[in-house]
Amino acid sequence: MAQIEHRLAQNSEGEFYVDSSCIDCDACRQIAPAIFRDHGGQSSVQRQPHSPEELQRALMALVACPTASIGTMSRRNARAGVEAFPEQLLADVYFCGFTSEASFGAWSYLIVRSEADGGNILVDSPRFTAPLVKRLEQMGGVRLMFLSHRDDIADHARFAAHFCCPRVMHHADGATRLGIEQITQGEQTVRLDDELLIIPTPGHTRGHQVLLYRDCVLFTGDHLAWSPERQTLIAFRDVCWYSWREQTRSMENLLAYCFESVLPGHGRLHHSSADDMHRHLERCVAWMKKM
Ligand code: SF4
Repeated sequence: MAQIEHRLAQNSEGEFYVDSSCIDCDACRQIAPAIFRDHGGQSSVQRQPHSPEELQRALMALVACPTASIGTMSRRNARAGVEAFPEQLLADVYFCGFTSEASFGAWSYLIVRSEADGGNILVDSPRFTAPLVKRLEQMGGVRLMFLSHRDDIADHARFAAHFCCPRVMHHADGATRLGIEQITQGEQTVRLDDELLIIPTPGHTRGHQVLLYRDCVLFTGDHLAWSPERQTLIAFRDVCWYSWREQTRSMENLLAYCFESVLPGHGRLHHSSADDMHRHLERCVAWMKKM
């Protein structure tokens, strides 16, 4: 819980505040950009919510914050924020909220599908917390967990145990040590079913992989994201743990695929036409080759 005695001086006066435990994960700024800002290395409240909608977004940010760094002076009930997750992003794709400090606030997603289509897929791991688990149960549970790479796995074991679902992850990111049920190897794509394709994308980590859903939605982990500053797709050079050369090569391989949405673990989401996404990806690859 946020501590008022550790309230950052950069916060605007009023009900909501961020305290000094903020790890600068960016989640609150994405969820409620009108309320939260980056003042340099941490987030703070730039202005207080003015409308019921802004209040709702601020409460969602409070709930999603991985370090419980957002507080309210009145210790306001956050139920409206809790009940807003999972948040629908696309017809059948949801943002889970409830990010985890163990994965530095990485975003995780739920693909909701009928049992006939193979059931629900949890993409990377949110924080294991009772309200989210209950909502996931109400939405049909989890049939499979896709883990993009070793950094964004958070409470994967608890979700797998609770929902009795297998996890799929690449061997090169320690899947065997983690007791993962379905381990991918090498650089061959793996088709899980008619709608889901795993594409190995080594670079950020040796065993990083992305998930393509219906040739439309690309779950990119920490491989690829949208930059609002540069207004194009980017990769993160300063957190490339394995090989920038490999990441550039695997990024170039993605040009063979079609997608209209990029949903990353870190960085910003983006939706556009497939042609536009392809152009941005080409631009990203060209930029990576120059780095
Ligand atoms: S969500 Fe929490 S940890 Fe992340 S930037 Fe906002 S206040 Fe900081």
